[in-house]
Amino acid sequence: MNRPILIVDDSPTLRTSLSFCLENAGYQTIQSENGQEGLDTLTKLKEEGKSIGLIITDINMPVMDGIGFIREVKATSFRFVPILVLSTETERSLKDQAKEAGAAGWLNKPFRPEQLLWVVKKFIRV
Ligand SMILES: [Mg+2]
Repeated sequence: MNRPILIVDDSPTLRTSLSFCLENAGYQTIQSENGQEGLDTLTKLKEEGKSIGLIITDINMPVMDGIGFIREVKATSFRFVPILVLSTETERSLKDQAKEAGAAGWLNKPFRPEQLLWVVKKFIRV
């Protein structure tokens, strides 16, 4: 069985549609609604001795945004987990910031399921 995918996004609608798409394709998902909650989830998983295969994060979120979240993840034992950004943002500078912070890839909302699954399959650590 694949390791689960952590979805970090403040939109409940997006989290639901994304997890529906991924779970239909056979993946397990865990949801967090901002960067800080995502970090708390990772801490909890670590305490339970569990791992994840991939993180998909939004950029614009309250409390802790996607760029901050990526930077923080890279300072934890989950630093080798690939991180994909899924955002409505299209600014080059933001994409560069995400890449510098350690993001493996960038997808734009609204996502196309086939494209998303192709990228997930390419990056997920099984
Ligand atoms: Mg958002």
